Amino acid sequence: MNAQAQLATAFDVERIRADFPLLKRTVHGKPLVYFDNANTSQKPVSVIEAVDRHYREHNANVARAVHQLGEEATAAYESARDGLARFINAGSRNDIVLTSGTTQSINLVAYSFALPRLKPGDVILTTVMEHHANIVPWQLVAARSGATVKAAPIDQHGELILEEFIKLLTPDVKLACVAHVSNVLGTVNPVREIARECKKRGIPLLVDGSQAVPHRPVDVQALGCDFYAITGHKMLGPTGTGALWAKREHLQAMPPFFGGGEMIREVSFSGTTFAEPPHKFEAGTPNIAGFAGLSAAMDYYQSIGFDAIRAWEDRLLSYATERLRDIPGLRIIGEAKDKEPVISFLIDGAQATDLATLLDLEGVAVRSGHHCAHPLMQFYGVPATLRASLAFYNTREEIDAFITALLKVRKLLL
Ligand code: PLP
Repeated sequence: MNAQAQLATAFDVERIRADFPLLKRTVHGKPLVYFDNANTSQKPVSVIEAVDRHYREHNANVARAVHQLGEEATAAYESARDGLARFINAGSRNDIVLTSGTTQSINLVAYSFALPRLKPGDVILTTVMEHHANIVPWQLVAARSGATVKAAPIDQHGELILEEFIKLLTPDVKLACVAHVSNVLGTVNPVREIARECKKRGIPLLVDGSQAVPHRPVDVQALGCDFYAITGHKMLGPTGTGALWAKREHLQAMPPFFGGGEMIREVSFSGTTFAEPPHKFEAGTPNIAGFAGLSAAMDYYQSIGFDAIRAWEDRLLSYATERLRDIPGLRIIGEAKDKEPVISFLIDGAQATDLATLLDLEGVAVRSGHHCAHPLMQFYGVPATLRASLAFYNTREEIDAFITALLKVRKLLL
């Protein structure tokens, strides 16, 4: 048995599931099968308790109070920054801006980094497989500046055509923006190679890491990108938490995006001076309790380890793919060689939304729709797909229950 197989065999999924209270519930009288993890993950009890404990024992505002509770709240908030810096191997905790999630992180780069630099004729290069959060902010700043947004193509397997992406890295490209992992296809993009090619041409690269950090260890310095955006709620943490990592030189050069309390050094009507990064990007009261929960989420990942998580998830992905392939008329959308456990599919003659609605009655939670990726749906010529997205707390038995339910609802619809 190789090391990967040993890890998967030793993986005590039942012990892990015991940490996730919600997984014990029933839906429409059936045991829940939660396969909508790419949308948001479930939370372990340690995360729920960290949020609860914060409000019961430490609640106060950050940085504004000299009293004990204010210091405790500030320590909780700032220790999430330390945790995130370790989690994605940032060179310094000061290179981590705490945000409400990937959407805010990307908008911060769009308005604070890109917009002041863009001029008519410039190009922002992205890919066909992006989430709207990595398309629409670029379109908004392009519309204001006269720049355009171009999308690099993918092939039918759902892999980025790297040569085409490289060809599109022309001198008018001022920023490139790619997903580390696609939320629809599960495709893992070759971010290191992309970063190398961008660097050769002096083009800054933003990576949307929303779907990568829940599944694999990420080292932003080794990746070689300029910006890395993440969201907390997909990695066991509370909603409304996230981060932007950026190279120091960019954070230094970027003007503040939001103005308000906490991001200033001195305010007067003759002129305001700003705090150093990252604080100059963190105006207003943040989601302090949420960040206390996010620290607990990262501790939880640490306690299991990504080697074990990956071994288990790879096994789940192979098994689910194999079982789905046996269903007549089922087409998997996205068959990249390097893939995270996200499976989009269609069944001939059945609407994705009808299937998802009927699956819900069987206790199976999957997502149907465009998954905030209209251009990708247009590429495949479909309005929607069904998507089963797995996490390390899922099991083979749940995959069996999902397949049984799918066969049942398919029969009802065909
Ligand atoms: N990018 C990707 C790839 C996603 O999957 C998502 C969420 O589904 C987002 C960005 C947006 O994340 P959030 O809504 O947490 O800001």
